[in-house]
Amino acid sequence: MRIATITNWAYGATVCLTIVAGVTMVMASSADRVERAAVRQRDLFDQLTFEIENDLSELTDQARLAAVTDDPSHAIAYQRTLASLGTVEQRVAKLKDGGANEQELRSLEEGLRWAKTLEDEQQAAIAATRRGDDATARAIVFGPEYERELERVRFLIGRFRYMLDQRSDDSIEQASQASQRLRSVSEAMVAITAALFLLVLGFILKRRILRPVMTLSDVVNRLADQDYTVETPAFSQVDEIGDMAHAIRIFRENGLERQRLERERDADWAVRDLLARMTQRLQGCESVSDLFAVVRLFAPEIAPRLAGRLYTLDNRMDLMVCAAEWRGSHGDGAEGRGPRGTDAAFGPDDCWALRRGQIHAPGGEMLDVPCRHVAPSAARATICVPLTAQGETIGLLVLENLAADHGPDESTGVYIELMSETVGLALANLNLREVLHEKALFDPLTGLRNRHELDDTLRRLVATADASGTPIACLMMDIDHFKRLNDRFGHDAGDLVIRTVAAVFAGGAREDDLALRYGGEEFLMLMPGADEALALERAERIRERVAGLDLTHEGQPIGPVTVSLGMAVYPHHGPIQALITTADAALLRAKEGGRDRVVVATQRSRGGGMPVSVGG
Ligand code: GH3
Ligand code: MG
Ligand code: MG
Repeated sequence: MRIATITNWAYGATVCLTIVAGVTMVMASSADRVERAAVRQRDLFDQLTFEIENDLSELTDQARLAAVTDDPSHAIAYQRTLASLGTVEQRVAKLKDGGANEQELRSLEEGLRWAKTLEDEQQAAIAATRRGDDATARAIVFGPEYERELERVRFLIGRFRYMLDQRSDDSIEQASQASQRLRSVSEAMVAITAALFLLVLGFILKRRILRPVMTLSDVVNRLADQDYTVETPAFSQVDEIGDMAHAIRIFRENGLERQRLERERDADWAVRDLLARMTQRLQGCESVSDLFAVVRLFAPEIAPRLAGRLYTLDNRMDLMVCAAEWRGSHGDGAEGRGPRGTDAAFGPDDCWALRRGQIHAPGGEMLDVPCRHVAPSAARATICVPLTAQGETIGLLVLENLAADHGPDESTGVYIELMSETVGLALANLNLREVLHEKALFDPLTGLRNRHELDDTLRRLVATADASGTPIACLMMDIDHFKRLNDRFGHDAGDLVIRTVAAVFAGGAREDDLALRYGGEEFLMLMPGADEALALERAERIRERVAGLDLTHEGQPIGPVTVSLGMAVYPHHGPIQALITTADAALLRAKEGGRDRVVVATQRSRGGGMPVSVGG
């Protein structure tokens, strides 16, 4: 029940009880008045009947004294007393006015009538006395008849008094009882009013208001301090306090929700900040290994509950190969470094994300087929995200929730999409850069390196050679009369010859040697650690193998192909800056010497070279 209702009821009840108590008190006091009036009436009746009895006795005494003495004063006193008495009607009227009822008055009237008869006899005795007949007078007032009548009158008056007393006592008793009863009722009303007041004070104020308000005040203070962990009291009462508690509960829930949203927003900003930083770092990557390191560092923070692998496509084997793996920063206690349920390498067809070019998450609300590269036990917890750039799939992110049987939540899913976009783009850029770099470094016709990085390589080799004191040999090779061959068999045949000779040239290199296409149909080989004899032997072998080629183009024999080689060795034939030109000079001399031969450079001091072999 609401407090206002209880208060109104208590107020109404108190007012009613107070009115009833007041009325009963008024009634009790009026009952007291009735009692007092009854007492007064009885006193009056006592006095009047006493007077009647007294007059009767006085008249009798005076009449008797007059009869027995010769003193005339008694007769005179008798007459005076008699004259002072009123009539019977007057006396009855007095009693009637005092409140005597008809029956009582009838009883009195009868007594008074007999008293009148006695008066007649008394007067007859007085008259006999005056005549001197004292014997008659005495016989009248002392005779048995007179005594009987006197007794009757006394009896009738006594009965009258008894009746009055009886009635007065009844009235007094009734009035007293009524007064007592009403007083009790009044006291009870006062007691109930007081009890009700105390109950209202105790129950409403203390239990229903004071205690809950103190509890709510404490809760409100803590909520004002943004302490939303405070438990709001679950008051079941349907009243104003219950309404307040309900409102405070809603306020707390709103506060908690606001805090949760603020936490989510802060977390979102932190992750977006991470994504921005990751994007920046990815843009600064010089190589895919840099990229893998960046992904390994940032991905566990961006999706802390997920273990992940980054796969790239190995075109030669047509396999998705794991390039980087990580465990989410919250994936405590789990063994291993990456997802548990995914193969380290698999064919692109095993992944539905790669097949469809879309994120594949079979652990979502909709039923979906699991990927073949994922173990059935981990299928629902795994999500595959293809990395695409310019519509081409270049890699794959596989993320597994090691703690639960479902993929990432919605917000993490958004971050993963952003991450996959930025990683895909960076990977594509690096791939493109590597392709361009490869193109810049390698000759497309022969597959050999070009002279792009020759200076750097030479400097590096010299630094090693200087430190170790080992020589570096340099071979320069040129195809003989190539122009003629081109002209005769066509450019394609020329390309075929260049490719074939290049393969022979590269085949003559050792593991650490660097064979490159120097330009046109000229080739260069740097042989670190090779002395003159070794280099000469290699050069001679190359020359012989080329000379032994039997090439045909489109079914047409090309005929013998020969090459000329010049050779110089650092530091034997001069400084490193002049190594290539020295070898080139030796080659020139090989051409001049008739071609199809190897010429070793001469020492600077000697200023020339000498042919060591002549082919053909
Ligand atoms: P020599 O014996 O003196 O070297 O005579 P040569 O005809 O080979 O003369 P040179 O070395 O000056 O000729 C080079 C020719 O090679 C010129 C050019 O047309 C041709 N050539 C250069 N690069 C290529 C190429 O990639 N493919 C083809 N088919 N020919 C090329
Ligand atoms: Mg040439
Ligand atoms: Mg040539």
